[in-house]
Amino acid sequence: MSLQRKPYFALDAEMLGNLVTILKDFGYIIYGPVERDGAIVYDIIESAEQIPRGLFDEQSPGRYRLIKKDERRYFGYVVGPQSPKYVLYPPQHLLFKVRKDGRTFIPRPDGKKVAIFGLRPCDLKAVDILDDVLLKGPYKNNTYWTLRKDALFIAVNCIEPDNNCFCTSMNTGPFAKSGCDICITELLMDGKHVFILETMTDKGAEIVNRLGCRSATEEELDAVSRLMEEARNKIRKKLNVENLKEDLYKNLEHPRWNDVGNRCLTCGNCTLVCPTCFCSSVFDRSSLSMDVAERWALWDSCFSIDYSYIHGGAIRQSIMSRYRNWLMHKLATWVDQFGTFGCVGCGRCITWCPVGIDIVEEANRVRS
Ligand code: SF4
Ligand code: SF4
Repeated sequence: MSLQRKPYFALDAEMLGNLVTILKDFGYIIYGPVERDGAIVYDIIESAEQIPRGLFDEQSPGRYRLIKKDERRYFGYVVGPQSPKYVLYPPQHLLFKVRKDGRTFIPRPDGKKVAIFGLRPCDLKAVDILDDVLLKGPYKNNTYWTLRKDALFIAVNCIEPDNNCFCTSMNTGPFAKSGCDICITELLMDGKHVFILETMTDKGAEIVNRLGCRSATEEELDAVSRLMEEARNKIRKKLNVENLKEDLYKNLEHPRWNDVGNRCLTCGNCTLVCPTCFCSSVFDRSSLSMDVAERWALWDSCFSIDYSYIHGGAIRQSIMSRYRNWLMHKLATWVDQFGTFGCVGCGRCITWCPVGIDIVEEANRVRS
């Protein structure tokens, strides 16, 4: 496999801080990977010093561990429990506020632009899917639009995929093809530590231009091509998506649904960590002085019995029916609604399920 798109640039690893500085000069609030409570999460960063080094993650169904290995490497881990959804569609956000005098306002763009640093290719596709859901219907989600419209994405290609990744099945990774402004591949070879940068938008090119990088050498590009090949081969988890939707529709009464229903705790972890799950509920609160009332949106989960409550009863009473609804939406009904799968193969729901339920295994068993 050889790299087709040109030009590529090379940034020495010790210059990564310059990229953060330039993003700040451009007025961005930068969210980047940080280590917190034993996991990699997104938080606002002021300098590249806050990006952890030497950390790798080990993931398997129901298990996540950070381990220390190569002190030099920045991006030895892949996805943590948070996705860009946390930044662009916050877990709790104000929809509107009403004053007693009748003046109503909806939160408006406050001029702040966010840059998300370190997104993985599967998460770029997840943002694309959220765009379809939250922006392309008759009504735009105002909060998402406010944060999304000027957002800048700096993606990092995955060269150390973990056991729960199945992006190759969903055609979303492990290397980014589109959806970001700048894409980075970390290269450690012959004592050299560089980031190979590819610009995908004019905005990205403007930033890289300001960095003053040199062009990547043929040797460096060959090394990136080798890493791409190796990364693909490391991904062992597979979901055959051919006729998947049709096979799942044919098996709505398969006994495997009861089996998984007996294991699922309905904790909703899978929906919270999923980068494409978007369900929310609304709640109102008013000031004690009774002159201001607010309506807020709060992430919700289809695993909660209240989520399907309509006119005196919940539609999905059994745990089995709630799990089936979720998996069917991800891999079948989403295709009917939006023309794509609702799953990007990030593996988060597998890692963060306390009982290790694996969407790939369940889908494969149901269709078998
Ligand atoms: S599948 Fe796992 S993570 Fe999802 S609700 Fe059930 S127990 Fe929780
Ligand atoms: S369903 Fe699971 S694997 Fe698919 S995008 Fe959501 S969290 Fe990732």
